[in-house]
Amino acid sequence: MPELPEVETVRRGLAPALEGRRIARATVRRGDLRRPFPNAFAHRLEGRLVRRVKRRAKYLLADLDGGETLIMHLGMSGRFTVHRATETKKPGRFVHKPADDGSGTGKHDHVILETDEGTRIVYTDHRRFGLMLLADTATLEEHPLFAEIGPEPLDRSFTPALLSAALKGKRTPIKSALLDQRVVAGLGNIYVCEALFRAGISPKRMASSVAGARADKLVPAIKQVLRQAVAAGGSSISDYAHADGELGDYQYKLFVYDREGEPCRKTDCSGKVRRLVQSGRSSFFCSTCQR
Ligand SMILES: [Zn+2]
Repeated sequence: MPELPEVETVRRGLAPALEGRRIARATVRRGDLRRPFPNAFAHRLEGRLVRRVKRRAKYLLADLDGGETLIMHLGMSGRFTVHRATETKKPGRFVHKPADDGSGTGKHDHVILETDEGTRIVYTDHRRFGLMLLADTATLEEHPLFAEIGPEPLDRSFTPALLSAALKGKRTPIKSALLDQRVVAGLGNIYVCEALFRAGISPKRMASSVAGARADKLVPAIKQVLRQAVAAGGSSISDYAHADGELGDYQYKLFVYDREGEPCRKTDCSGKVRRLVQSGRSSFFCSTCQR
């Protein structure tokens, strides 16, 4: 499942194709993804100017000039392919080969947007856990999808004090607490494992004890791992690819994730990476240097 860096990478692929462009034509080829598409969805998109393409947590948000925002979520297997007027970008190499190539004609190509400059943006999703909705831009923060979501980890407002306050009294392991989108937005299994490793904090540690010096280490570690992953174009361990079909290569920089039994990569540590199942998800960590 795409995490914040992957969604941000897709946003960066979509923004130049959509921002400042009008949606000349929208084609919606089925009634639903994870949820039904909005009523008269294509009609409400057509003719609209896309002001900005933003991201909140793992959602892509396209603000339209009519006062609505197109909310998009990739689910498990959703992808965008951007076909420019002058070039058709190959969908590229995928970890799990997609059922369709994003040409717009495949049976899993569900939504096609054509801009006034002739760019075609195809949304493909063979498992259909994705989501597209329209909501009022002015009240978006109060929308049920966003009302409870915690701070953006890359925002300056996400500080050790803010994280400590969110973790106060939480008697769950820090690993589970960080996956809770109400505590912090957009983090998933890979980056939580990596941030805890960088901060030297065990995934088993009780969340409420991550305060003071530990929070002072964890917050920069979260920001660092996310920034590096965004710069690398995201990870492509799971069923994920960029909007332009290129794979992210961040998985080559992962220190613990999916490295069970391999040596710890901290230079002064002789430990091995261990795997532990927490809330049904694998945690990878070094029990020697993560406490
Ligand atoms: Zn270690």
